[in-house]
Amino acid sequence: MYFWYRVQMWFRQFMQGRYGADALTRAQLWTGLALYVVNLFLRSNILVFLALALYLWAIFRIFSRNRVARAKENQRFLELWYSLKQKPGQYKLRFQNRKEYKYFHCPKCHTVLRSRRGGGQRAFTCPKCGHTFEKKL
Ligand SMILES: [Zn+2]
Repeated sequence: MYFWYRVQMWFRQFMQGRYGADALTRAQLWTGLALYVVNLFLRSNILVFLALALYLWAIFRIFSRNRVARAKENQRFLELWYSLKQKPGQYKLRFQNRKEYKYFHCPKCHTVLRSRRGGGQRAFTCPKCGHTFEKKL
Protein backbone atom coordinates (compact mmCIF):
# COMPACT_ATOMS: atom_id res chain seq x y z
CA MET A 1 0.00 0.00 0.00
CA TYR A 2 2.86 2.33 0.76
CA PHE A 3 4.06 1.92 -2.81
CA TRP A 4 0.76 3.24 -4.22
CA TYR A 5 0.85 6.11 -1.80
CA ARG A 6 4.30 7.02 -3.12
CA VAL A 7 3.05 6.75 -6.72
CA GLN A 8 0.11 8.98 -5.87
CA MET A 9 2.38 11.55 -4.23
CA TRP A 10 4.77 11.47 -7.16
CA PHE A 11 1.89 11.93 -9.60
CA ARG A 12 0.46 14.84 -7.63
CA GLN A 13 3.84 16.54 -7.69
CA PHE A 14 4.26 15.75 -11.37
CA MET A 15 0.91 17.34 -12.18
CA GLN A 16 1.65 20.49 -10.21
CA GLY A 17 1.40 23.52 -12.49
CA ARG A 18 0.16 21.41 -15.36
CA TYR A 19 -3.13 22.04 -17.06
CA GLY A 20 -5.04 18.77 -16.52
CA ALA A 21 -8.26 17.69 -18.19
CA ASP A 22 -11.13 19.93 -19.28
CA ALA A 23 -14.21 19.79 -21.52
CA LEU A 24 -12.07 19.77 -24.67
CA THR A 25 -10.02 16.85 -23.30
CA ARG A 26 -13.19 14.87 -22.67
CA ALA A 27 -14.45 15.68 -26.18
CA GLN A 28 -11.10 14.59 -27.65
CA LEU A 29 -11.10 11.31 -25.75
CA TRP A 30 -14.72 10.49 -26.58
CA THR A 31 -14.29 11.42 -30.25
CA GLY A 32 -11.12 9.32 -30.38
CA LEU A 33 -12.96 6.39 -28.85
CA ALA A 34 -15.89 6.85 -31.26
CA LEU A 35 -13.49 6.92 -34.23
CA TYR A 36 -11.85 3.79 -32.94
CA VAL A 37 -15.20 1.97 -32.63
CA VAL A 38 -16.31 3.11 -36.11
CA ASN A 39 -12.99 1.88 -37.39
CA LEU A 40 -13.71 -1.62 -36.10
CA PHE A 41 -16.20 -1.79 -38.96
CA LEU A 42 -14.59 0.43 -41.59
CA ARG A 43 -10.93 -0.56 -41.05
CA SER A 44 -9.49 2.67 -42.37
CA ASN A 45 -5.96 3.84 -41.61
CA ILE A 46 -7.07 7.44 -41.70
CA LEU A 47 -9.50 6.91 -38.80
CA VAL A 48 -6.84 5.18 -36.70
CA PHE A 49 -4.46 8.02 -37.39
CA LEU A 50 -7.12 10.62 -36.49
CA ALA A 51 -8.00 8.82 -33.25
CA LEU A 52 -4.31 8.55 -32.34
CA ALA A 53 -3.73 12.22 -33.15
CA LEU A 54 -6.69 13.21 -30.94
CA TYR A 55 -5.32 11.13 -28.06
CA LEU A 56 -1.81 12.52 -28.40
CA TRP A 57 -3.21 16.05 -28.55
CA ALA A 58 -5.33 15.37 -25.43
CA ILE A 59 -2.29 13.98 -23.56
CA PHE A 60 -0.22 16.95 -24.63
CA ARG A 61 -2.88 19.34 -23.31
CA ILE A 62 -3.24 17.51 -19.97
CA PHE A 63 0.50 17.72 -19.24
CA SER A 64 0.99 21.17 -20.72
CA ARG A 65 2.37 23.89 -18.46
CA ASN A 66 0.98 26.67 -20.63
CA ARG A 67 -2.32 26.87 -18.81
CA VAL A 68 -3.43 30.17 -20.37
CA ALA A 69 -3.16 28.85 -23.93
CA ARG A 70 -4.94 25.61 -22.99
CA ALA A 71 -7.77 27.50 -21.25
CA LYS A 72 -8.18 29.63 -24.39
CA GLU A 73 -8.45 26.52 -26.55
CA ASN A 74 -11.09 25.15 -24.22
CA GLN A 75 -13.00 28.43 -24.36
CA ARG A 76 -12.96 28.42 -28.18
CA PHE A 77 -14.09 24.82 -28.19
CA LEU A 78 -17.00 25.56 -25.83
CA GLU A 79 -18.12 28.53 -27.95
CA LEU A 80 -18.09 26.37 -31.07
CA TRP A 81 -19.89 23.58 -29.26
CA TYR A 82 -22.70 25.82 -28.02
CA SER A 83 -23.16 27.47 -31.42
CA LEU A 84 -23.46 23.99 -32.98
CA LYS A 85 -25.97 22.95 -30.35
CA GLN A 86 -28.04 26.08 -30.95
CA LYS A 87 -28.34 25.68 -34.71
CA PRO A 88 -30.98 22.89 -34.85
CA GLY A 89 -33.25 24.98 -32.59
CA GLN A 90 -32.78 27.96 -34.89
CA TYR A 91 -33.77 25.98 -37.96
CA LYS A 92 -36.81 24.60 -36.18
CA LEU A 93 -37.91 28.12 -35.29
CA ARG A 94 -37.42 29.26 -38.88
CA PHE A 95 -39.52 26.38 -40.10
CA GLN A 96 -42.33 27.18 -37.67
CA ASN A 97 -42.30 30.85 -38.72
CA ARG A 98 -41.93 30.21 -42.44
CA LYS A 99 -45.41 31.50 -43.34
CA GLU A 100 -45.09 34.72 -41.43
CA TYR A 101 -41.42 35.58 -41.93
CA LYS A 102 -38.95 35.38 -44.71
CA TYR A 103 -35.36 34.55 -43.76
CA PHE A 104 -32.48 35.62 -45.95
CA HIS A 105 -28.80 36.47 -45.79
CA CYS A 106 -27.15 39.84 -45.99
CA PRO A 107 -25.35 39.82 -49.37
CA LYS A 108 -22.26 41.40 -47.82
CA CYS A 109 -21.66 39.73 -44.42
CA HIS A 110 -24.07 36.74 -44.73
CA THR A 111 -25.79 37.42 -41.42
CA VAL A 112 -29.25 35.83 -41.29
CA LEU A 113 -31.96 38.46 -41.43
CA ARG A 114 -35.68 38.13 -40.96
CA SER A 115 -38.61 40.16 -42.25
CA ARG A 116 -42.36 39.84 -42.32
CA ARG A 117 -43.58 38.45 -45.64
CA GLY A 118 -45.46 40.55 -48.18
CA GLY A 119 -44.99 44.11 -49.31
CA GLY A 120 -43.00 43.44 -52.48
CA GLN A 121 -39.67 45.12 -53.11
CA ARG A 122 -38.15 46.77 -50.06
CA ALA A 123 -34.88 48.31 -49.01
CA PHE A 124 -33.05 46.70 -46.11
CA THR A 125 -30.17 47.83 -44.00
CA CYS A 126 -28.16 45.06 -42.38
CA PRO A 127 -28.00 45.71 -38.63
CA LYS A 128 -24.58 44.09 -38.42
CA CYS A 129 -22.53 45.63 -41.24
CA GLY A 130 -24.80 48.52 -42.31
CA HIS A 131 -25.00 47.35 -45.93
CA THR A 132 -28.15 48.56 -47.72
CA PHE A 133 -29.78 46.41 -50.36
CA GLU A 134 -33.13 45.81 -52.01
CA LYS A 135 -35.05 42.61 -51.76
CA LYS A 136 -38.41 41.35 -52.89
CA LEU A 137 -40.36 39.51 -50.23
ZN1 LIG B 1 -24.45 42.57 -43.37
